[in-house]
Amino acid sequence: MRLLEHGARVPELDEHQAAVRRGADGCSPDWDDLPSETKAAVQSALVQRQGGLCAYCMRRIRASGEGIRIEHYEARSHAPDLCFEWTNLLGVCHGRLQQERTCDARRGNRPLSIDPRREEHIAKIRYNRGRISASEDALHRDLDETLGLNVATLCRNREDALRGFLESLEKQKPDRTWPADFIRRKLAHLASRAELPEYFGVVEYWARKRDDRRR
Ligand SMILES: [Zn+2]
Repeated sequence: MRLLEHGARVPELDEHQAAVRRGADGCSPDWDDLPSETKAAVQSALVQRQGGLCAYCMRRIRASGEGIRIEHYEARSHAPDLCFEWTNLLGVCHGRLQQERTCDARRGNRPLSIDPRREEHIAKIRYNRGRISASEDALHRDLDETLGLNVATLCRNREDALRGFLESLEKQKPDRTWPADFIRRKLAHLASRAELPEYFGVVEYWARKRDDRRR
């Protein structure tokens, strides 16, 4: 999980939200009533904002059909007035991994303590051999149980993502001395892409921890 940027709002969505609040004809808090072009614009804006990564598990999401689900951080059943509120929306994956369920598909309507929009929550996240945890119980429970982010496939994928990054550093500098600014430049290069590498938060965490150790 990475910190969620605010991103660029979608004007058509804001207009629709305002119309729902006014009680305008034909405008209800139901995504099925939203013009399909507006929904497509929201999907694109979420994918762009999140560098093409699921807001929870950091798998690849794409702005089409099965490639993305629009998640309401405050579930619609609890906060129908936030149904079209941009800051309440997250782009997430379909949450299926063989027999397992993750992310929104696992969470359902349960409330979450962990909030990818809050920097202080993201700062409490740790990765160890692919497993994700948080230094605060309620946040940890959400990562591990509510969102199911420690299913075996995700843990393995996160380990592989970090290994791949370290191998790419090694290729350039086999002696593994890697000055801090060399790593920083490498990260900045990856972070500048429209599509971030999957599980990029693991690499960012590794780099942050390495910096802390050397300080
Ligand atoms: Zn996901």
